[in-house]
Amino acid sequence: MKFVKIERDGQAVWGEVREDTVFTLTQPPFERLSYDGASCPLGECTLLAPCEATKIVCVGKNYYDHAVEMGEGVPDKPILFLKAPNTINCPDGAVHAPDFVQRLDYEGELAFVIRRRAKDVKAEDYAGYILGYTCLNDVTARDIQKGDGQWSRGKSMDGFAPMGPVVTDEVDPADLAIETRLNGKVVQSGRTSQFMTKVPELLAFITASMTLEPGDVVTTGTPAGIGPMHPGDTVEVEVEGIGVLRNVVK
Ligand code: MG
Repeated sequence: MKFVKIERDGQAVWGEVREDTVFTLTQPPFERLSYDGASCPLGECTLLAPCEATKIVCVGKNYYDHAVEMGEGVPDKPILFLKAPNTINCPDGAVHAPDFVQRLDYEGELAFVIRRRAKDVKAEDYAGYILGYTCLNDVTARDIQKGDGQWSRGKSMDGFAPMGPVVTDEVDPADLAIETRLNGKVVQSGRTSQFMTKVPELLAFITASMTLEPGDVVTTGTPAGIGPMHPGDTVEVEVEGIGVLRNVVK
């Protein structure tokens, strides 16, 4: 199934997407699906980030090639960090950094949204805890990240996590093509089969330490090819079978 979160009459409403129509729900699609009887054409909807995140759990260096390009060694276990909820941005939201940021980078990533409270999940049980998969741009103020010596400020500025457009369980995360384009030019290209820690083991690793709530987001790291964005740029993250996340830098 494919889900979106849309704005309707000033309220955030979840919906199931069938073909080009959104059938709206009375509540988030975590425990059960409850339709409110209304629908609207997908193309006429204002899309919101398809999550209810209390936190976004991120993995640094989950693609070998990206770990090498960062030049700080290849980790032997997932390196987790958080993006705060203020980073959540709409699928077509503008990306903007404060004037003091010298280098603003894209990081195209596959993300997933949690559907039920997850603690000490066994890797083989992973699928039952995941509502579906989406695209996410882990926008990073690289100079701040490096200069601060830890990542909170550089990773958690307002709007630094655009995600969407849909969340879908109709893909297998084991091997999906992922591509980032800057002004139409391919700058990152990889496959999720290159993950050093795959989705089932990643969920087990995270939930051994922290409880994930329904609507929380996990983002799985970025392939090689990170680089800067500038005002006026259009950045697209496309994951096979999910769609295109397209944002303009302001
Ligand atoms: Mg990242």
